[in-house]
Amino acid sequence: MIPAPFEYVAAESPAQALALLAEHGDDAKLLAGGHSLLPMMKLRLATPAVLIDIGRLGELAGVSADNGELVIGATTRHADLAAAELVRSQAPLLAYAAAQVGDPQIRHRGTIGGSLAHADPAADLPMALVALGGSVEVAGPDGTRVVAADDFFQGFFETVMQPDEMLTAVRVPRMPGVPWGYQKFVRRANDWAIVGVAAVDGRIALANMGPRPLRATAAEQAVADGASAAEAAALAADGTSPGEDMHADREYRRHLARVLTRRALEHQTG
Ligand SMILES: Cc1cc2nc3c(=O)[nH]c(=O)nc-3n(C[C@H](O)[C@H](O)[C@H](O)COP(=O)(O)OP(=O)(O)OC[C@H]3O[C@@H](n4cnc5c(N)ncnc54)[C@H](O)[C@@H]3O)c2cc1C
Repeated sequence: MIPAPFEYVAAESPAQALALLAEHGDDAKLLAGGHSLLPMMKLRLATPAVLIDIGRLGELAGVSADNGELVIGATTRHADLAAAELVRSQAPLLAYAAAQVGDPQIRHRGTIGGSLAHADPAADLPMALVALGGSVEVAGPDGTRVVAADDFFQGFFETVMQPDEMLTAVRVPRMPGVPWGYQKFVRRANDWAIVGVAAVDGRIALANMGPRPLRATAAEQAVADGASAAEAAALAADGTSPGEDMHADREYRRHLARVLTRRALEHQTG
């Protein structure tokens, strides 16, 4: 459980972090909260030669309002996201999702940018971002581009970001008072979802039902057509092909998706 040797650089600005990424390419990795990257390095599943620490860049942290959206800096920690009054009032599903991540220690180190970039299909914040119809700002050598959540996650631990790009901010629509539902089925309180469901404003997102967070499009269409929660939820696993592991086989995950979608639709708050 000892990582391979690496060089550590604490970036002094986002521009310096980008310059270091451009210089080192595939050999470098950004370090934010370190709560996904460091375990992978200890297991030698990741062996970056250079770690570029962006976790201390205050200019990449914090929440602000920009017309109809909230803008959340990439290094905003899960605990700060869960506690931010602006997020709790304008995008309560996101605040709630952040509060479901791991345990207090993890929430005080892990960042929203790190979670989204890591792109674990079982994670809370990627599913929440897809449910909210949010987007991310990605900076690179050619400037900054905005990518919709539906397009950002490409596959198992894979996003559209290139090795020389950095996620700088997250945007979510402001939805004060819009009902939302969130269900996460876990074996122990601080675990990743065996299956998760987030529903808000006609959108339904699923965690751990495929290689990336998915939309339950058949169930969404049924809701739009006026179906009951039970009728819509019966379609929640349509088109999915979840993986199997020691926690659940494929059919059990499909069952969970239907049950949790029904609960998410029936027990909405806001
Ligand atoms: C015991 C345990 C339990 C956990 N439980 C949960 C859970 O229940 N739900 C859940 O969702 N998560 C869970 N997590 C994961 C946790 O949320 C991590 O904090 C998160 O996945 C990664 O965030 P980080 O800031 O620590 O990223 P890091 O570990 O620093 O980085 C992760 C990856 O993202 C890249 N990266 C980081 N920031 C950026 C950026 N701004 N731009 C581009 N790339 C970037 C890194 O290079 C690396 O590849 C758990 C982790 C542990 C250790």
